[in-house]
Amino acid sequence: MTAPDDVLAELRALRAGDLPTHGGRTLAYVYDSALPGLDDLAAQAHALASSVNGLDPTAFPSLLRLENDVVATAARLLGGTPATVGTVTSGGTESCLLAVLAARESRPDLGPASIVLPETAHAAFHKAAHYFGVRVIAVPVDPVTFRADPDAMAAAIADDTVLVVVSAPSYAHGVVDPVTPIAAAAAARGVRCHVDACIGGWILPHADVAPFDFSVPGVTSMSVDLHKYAYCPKGTSVLLHADADLRRPQYFASADWPGYTMLNSTTQSTRSGGPLAAAWAVLRHIGEDGYRDLARRTLASARVIRDGIAEIDGLRVLGEPESTLIAVTATRDDFDVFTVADEMRARKWYVQPQFAYRSSPANLHLTVTAANVGGEAELLADLRDSVRAAADAGPVRVAPEVVAAIGALDPSSLTPQEFAGLLAAAGFGGDAVLPDRMATVNTLLAAASPALRERLLVEFLGTLYS
Ligand SMILES: *Cc1c(COP(=O)(O)O)cnc(C)c1O
Repeated sequence: MTAPDDVLAELRALRAGDLPTHGGRTLAYVYDSALPGLDDLAAQAHALASSVNGLDPTAFPSLLRLENDVVATAARLLGGTPATVGTVTSGGTESCLLAVLAARESRPDLGPASIVLPETAHAAFHKAAHYFGVRVIAVPVDPVTFRADPDAMAAAIADDTVLVVVSAPSYAHGVVDPVTPIAAAAAARGVRCHVDACIGGWILPHADVAPFDFSVPGVTSMSVDLHKYAYCPKGTSVLLHADADLRRPQYFASADWPGYTMLNSTTQSTRSGGPLAAAWAVLRHIGEDGYRDLARRTLASARVIRDGIAEIDGLRVLGEPESTLIAVTATRDDFDVFTVADEMRARKWYVQPQFAYRSSPANLHLTVTAANVGGEAELLADLRDSVRAAADAGPVRVAPEVVAAIGALDPSSLTPQEFAGLLAAAGFGGDAVLPDRMATVNTLLAAASPALRERLLVEFLGTLYS
């Protein structure tokens, strides 16, 4: 046996190599409330319930009560009615998957079904379509505002469409789709409308935005992640339905074996009570007033950062983000945003590169959280310096023959040899250890089509998990 202290020391040493999850310097993936004591509370609540199994709410009624409380809190925040019901899931992707599944299962009369998405919808919906054999009808968004186009969305609804999706806000640009006309168009065709508020659901109720929640006629379901702006530990999201009839096809039961009748509300069967209990404790501790305060301060901070970016020569904010997410692109071609990301990394900030897609140019994504309040000036100064340094370095140069070679690769028949050659060209030294600077890798990936990029990164993932 290894002594617990030694095990924990080993774990701490491993964790030291991660991006920081607190302090506001990691501007994607993590959410920091900066509230003292919150981590401790969540960890203790998690420990109290991590051995409890949500598989059977009659055996563990504490989890039933916690889940009903959490769902009620989310419903209250998002314009729910007494009829609103929901499910706590493991994360935003699972909430989106289940919204698509419920919609598909509600139409057993159809052959293959379709879902209508703005092209800015989260990739979780493409995953749902892939898993559940549903066709995606992707609709171009306004190329300036990056908001879904209501007329185009309405026109895209087909006879086999089971769900129309809108984002509040979109992850990539932080803009809120026009929910009212799109939900109305869906309702007019008898089609469900899902509002993906995974990232914004705990913020937008405190922002000055157009109606986006259950108060909008035609909205049938909403997703909101607790592990984002509700500042709960990872592993919780809520999927809400306007009523129980809409939710029923999400559930799965099987009595077709000799064991217990398996009865599941989510894709999981055994479900740890840990994340749910932690989320319940955090929601209860922070409370409505606490979240209003956090949201207001974070929105104000995002506004300061946005305005500051507008003043930086060479940068421009994409669209008009209405929440706490910012996408920044270059206005000059004497530098690459990917190099800016590396320069920020050298200054101990993580900003997330986003590749060009349709009308959206290559950009950097910033998720602003409460931990950024008060640190705006330092962030902006480092961003300004990073742009200057990137301009001094000049744009990333990749040999034209390498770009041509990437263009010639066929994602459906990529060989291990071709992949190894690309890794070498991208500066990986035989193993899959990331180079310090990612601009070259990102430039190579940017030269690949989306299908090839998917294929390359899947291959890369396989080399990591070996
Ligand atoms: C984060 C996010 C998701 C997916 O959530 P995960 O928790 O990462 O699975 C879905 N939609 C939007 C808009 C998001 O921001």
